[in-house]
Amino acid sequence: MPSENSVTLAHCGIMASYKDIRIALDPSYLVDCDFVFVSHAHTDHLHRARKNSAFKGQILASKETCAIARTRGYTIREPIERHDTFELVDTGHIVGSKGLLVGGEIYYTGDISTRKRAFMKPAQLPKVKVLVIESTFGRPDYVFPELTQIVHETNRIISEMYDLGKPVILMGYPLGKAQVLTSLFGHWDPIYVHDSVWKINSVCIELGIELKQAITFSEAEKRGLLDSRPWLMISPLMHARNEFVGKMKRKYGAITIGFSGWATGRRYASMMGLDYAMPMSDHCDFKELVAAVKSCSPDKVYTFHGFAADFAKYLRSVGFDAEPLGAWAENNAEKDGKQEGKTLTLDVFS
Ligand SMILES: [Zn+2]
Ligand SMILES: [Zn+2]
Repeated sequence: MPSENSVTLAHCGIMASYKDIRIALDPSYLVDCDFVFVSHAHTDHLHRARKNSAFKGQILASKETCAIARTRGYTIREPIERHDTFELVDTGHIVGSKGLLVGGEIYYTGDISTRKRAFMKPAQLPKVKVLVIESTFGRPDYVFPELTQIVHETNRIISEMYDLGKPVILMGYPLGKAQVLTSLFGHWDPIYVHDSVWKINSVCIELGIELKQAITFSEAEKRGLLDSRPWLMISPLMHARNEFVGKMKRKYGAITIGFSGWATGRRYASMMGLDYAMPMSDHCDFKELVAAVKSCSPDKVYTFHGFAADFAKYLRSVGFDAEPLGAWAENNAEKDGKQEGKTLTLDVFS
């Protein structure tokens, strides 16, 4: 007899069944099912509308996700935020990010962070039977330092560089990290934001997030504001070989600090050609992932993204019934990383 609840990996993405309801979780395109859930507005979780799609169901997404998706050129068709069977739960990943609680029994996290970061509140963790959890940093080597330590260290570097007359560029994903960085380091003066960051910051301000409305890089350059004294800029994460970074270094002697969970690895800074790298993420680190699973106290755990196989194996060793979903049975953090890299490039140049 088929079980009442099931979670599988299909071509379009993760599919969940609850009673007679079929739900596509962050699918890459609209498939024939009852509900589609969009957890947040990172492009690897959004879908493009397709002509002749067999999808006749409803789309679940937060209003923030829809607004941010729109500025990135995606339309989420007639989304709903409320339904008797579902609850959209805060996941603390980026502005508007939600997990989906299905019938109080299945919980899909999308991307998740349980750490308070500036205006971002930690994820909520419901108790469930079936937990479908992301495992980007699902290896014990990925444990991040306390946020206060990173903020302290970053402020120290900025202050040192200002004394030397050098501007500093703080780099992170334009959607997520860049808003947290704008909030954490907004007290520095003058502060500029890369045009792509300005676009996302502006939507977030409209959505009620308290962020300093900084001048864009193009505007600052046009007005000749970059020449006179040291400044701080928030920009997307870019390799030192990138034309923009090259120009900032040649013309202004700028120092770069990159913020990424992958910076836990010693080689990250040199690989990216960054002057400094800080292990800071919008995802849970390994310890936080383990604590999140324990909090949900599920009977069954499915892992996806990043080190899914390793994380499931670890969970089994501490007594959980856990398995990676489909293609993630082989750890493919490298592949995920490349996809993220691609997204990043698009974010910078589009
Ligand atoms: Zn994400
Ligand atoms: Zn993701």
